[in-house]
Amino acid sequence: MSTTFRITFLGTSAAVPTVRRNVSATLVAYQDLKWLIDCGEGTQRQIMRTGAGFKNLTHIVLSHEHLDHILGIGGLLATFNMLLPVSQVTVFGSPATLERVRQLASFIGRSLQYKLHLQPIEQGLVFSHRQLECYAFPTRHRLKRSYGFIFQEKPKRRFLAEVAERLGIPAGPERRRLLAGESVQSPTGRWVHPDEVLAPPVPGKKLVYISDTLYFPELSTYAAEADCLIAEATFLSSDAELAAEVGHMTAAQAATVARDAGAKRLYLNHLSQRYAQAEHLILEEARHIFPDTHLASDLLTVEV
Ligand SMILES: [Zn+2]
Ligand SMILES: [Zn+2]
Repeated sequence: MSTTFRITFLGTSAAVPTVRRNVSATLVAYQDLKWLIDCGEGTQRQIMRTGAGFKNLTHIVLSHEHLDHILGIGGLLATFNMLLPVSQVTVFGSPATLERVRQLASFIGRSLQYKLHLQPIEQGLVFSHRQLECYAFPTRHRLKRSYGFIFQEKPKRRFLAEVAERLGIPAGPERRRLLAGESVQSPTGRWVHPDEVLAPPVPGKKLVYISDTLYFPELSTYAAEADCLIAEATFLSSDAELAAEVGHMTAAQAATVARDAGAKRLYLNHLSQRYAQAEHLILEEARHIFPDTHLASDLLTVEV
C-alpha cells in the first residue's frame, strides 16, 4: 500500500521534558509538504535531528495555549528569521494561543524577514491544500478553547488509462484535463466525460490527532475510521480521578476512543513522567481494549 502520511513524533512527554522525551510536537509530511502540530520547547532541534529540514514547513497548527505545546515557537520563528527556509508561515490556533504566539514572536527583535500569518481557528475546516484538508474539533481541557485535528485526504479516483486509450485520448494535456474534471473531445469528435475514464472514488487516508483533553464519547465520532489515531494518554486508570480533574485521558480511555471509532492503529502520546519506569503498564492497559496500540517515542516515524 502506498504511503500517504509520514508522521514523526518530535516530543511525546506531558508537561515537562524528560531525558528521553521532549514536550509536544509532531511533524506530518504529505507529498512535498510538511505540517507541524504543536511546538513545545526544543522542537526546532528535534526537527533538525530528524533530518527533515525546515523547507516547506509553512503551516503550524496549535492545539491550545499551554506552554508545553507552544513555547518552542519563539525559537523556531527566530531561526526562520536567520535561515529564511520559507517566505511565509501560517500559525493556526485559538485566539488565546495566537496571542501568546504573537508575544513570543515580538521578542525576535528586528523585523521579521518573512510573512507571519496568525490564523484564528474554530471548529471545522482549518485549511485545504491540494488533496488534503485539515479540520479542527473541540476538546475539553479546562480552557475556553482547545482543539484536536483531523488530516483528511480527499477521495481518490484512479485514471483508467486503458479506457482512455480505447476512446482515442492520447497521453498528455487532454488526460490531465479529464483528471481535473473537464470533458474533452477525442480526435474523432466524440466528447469524453471524466466519469468514463475515472474509477469510482476510494476514500483518502485519515489521520486524527487528539491533544490534551478529558475523555468524552464524541471523540470517537471525530476519530471515526481513522487510519491512524494519535491520542494523549497522560494517566493510567489507577489515576483516572486525577486525570478527569486536570483535563486529561487515561490509556484505557484513549484505547476506548480508538475502539469505538473503528480506528486502524493507535499511538499513545503525551506520556507523564510519573510512569517513566513503568511505561509497559500504559501499553498493556490500552492493548487490553485496543490491541493495535503503540507507544509514541521521540523521533519515531510511522507511515500511513
Ligand atoms: Zn500538554
Ligand atoms: Zn494542556
